[in-house]
Amino acid sequence: MSSSKTVFDVAIDTLNEAGRLGKINPRALQILQAPKRINAFRIPLKLDNGSFEVFQAYRVHYCDAMGPFRDGTRIRPELTLEEIKALGIFMTIKHCVADIPAGGAKGGIQADLRTLTERDKECLIRAFVRNLEPKGPWVDVPGADIGTGEQVMSWMLDEYEQITGAHCPAAINDKPAILGGSLGGEAATGLGVFLVLQAAARDMGLEINNAAAAVQGFGQVGSELASLLYETGCRVIAVSDVYGGIFEEKGLNIPALKDHVQKTGSVADFPGATTLSNDQVLEAEVDILIPAAVHDVIHADNAANIKARLIVEGANGPVTTEADRILMDNQIIVIPDVVANSGGATVCHFERSQGLSDEYWDLDRVNNTLRKRILAAYTQSRDRAREFNTQSIRFGAWIHALKKLERAMALRGWI
Ligand code: NAD
Repeated sequence: MSSSKTVFDVAIDTLNEAGRLGKINPRALQILQAPKRINAFRIPLKLDNGSFEVFQAYRVHYCDAMGPFRDGTRIRPELTLEEIKALGIFMTIKHCVADIPAGGAKGGIQADLRTLTERDKECLIRAFVRNLEPKGPWVDVPGADIGTGEQVMSWMLDEYEQITGAHCPAAINDKPAILGGSLGGEAATGLGVFLVLQAAARDMGLEINNAAAAVQGFGQVGSELASLLYETGCRVIAVSDVYGGIFEEKGLNIPALKDHVQKTGSVADFPGATTLSNDQVLEAEVDILIPAAVHDVIHADNAANIKARLIVEGANGPVTTEADRILMDNQIIVIPDVVANSGGATVCHFERSQGLSDEYWDLDRVNNTLRKRILAAYTQSRDRAREFNTQSIRFGAWIHALKKLERAMALRGWI
């Protein structure tokens, strides 16, 4: 990658350019240049194997002009504060685009979960919650992200409730349904990416059932999305994960690939498929490309090699600013993360509402409401792009969000 910019620098570039195009009040932009509050702390832990480690952790409260801080917790060994800040501003924008009355936050722990026992993980998570000094659903609601599934969120909820002495399912998101989570939560982001992809393809006159697609990342988001594409008859010809990629011109059998991943832990060595590198998957001869792994994967050095006509961002921040310009020059449509992957945040909103009301929704209600809301987010972002004379739906989405933030800040008397 030629640029030394961090993913947070890229987010701030997008903020400032959208602010310029949308003529947003400079005071609102000034507030959004950095998080409102950063809680950085270290967690000492005596591990089961007798060793001792201190883990760096963060909770970033980015902006709460629209409502209580909300969203995920990421655990990975390479985690940086810059990454958590970027995810915090993405959540601030994403909630606005999805019309959710919530602010943006993100947390994380720098840890390699593969080296920890279940008991080590539980101790680490409970200590993380204690360090947040959690204040409940009207202040800050942590959810899941990479490295934090339903078990982790169950420990978080239990620790919160042990501290406060009261049950409060709305205090933690992404819980299993049996502890007050929402049905449809796990599949929500993949389903949302698919719904937005369908709408964008329709706008371009691209028939998904006759198209070829490549998916980078075959986790919660990528595998769900690949399954939905496969069911429509779309040929998913290239897929990758952290270990590398695979290719099958006729289209991969996605249900069989899911079984293979279940058994082996990777897409690698899928019978009948050719091996590709992760870069080759991104540059494959396809109509649709879905980066659904990590940030900064499409950059100045590979953007010109992308063949897809439509890119739908399952991951957060997969395209750098320079790459975005190259893709735009090449007439490639990019549906940005803050629209495309907002399905998870939207169902988290339903989850919190269910917890607060103690009234739980069936799956049809969750999915139908998600469909309506995410398609509205796409249409409004696309229309804002047209209104402000930019080809970029990313800027359309950010302008749409910034108009709301500007109004909320003005009404609160902040600017
Ligand atoms: P996951 O951990 O379930 O899966 C991640 C996948 O990406 C795995 O297949 C992994 O092997 C692969 N991967 C990791 N590093 C890679 C690399 N360098 N190159 C290629 N592949 C790599 O994660 P997920 O929940 O599916 O999330 C994927 C992306 O979507 C992340 O950027 C996340 O922030 C974003 N996202 C997820 C949700 C959600 O609800 N899960 C919501 C919004 C955004």
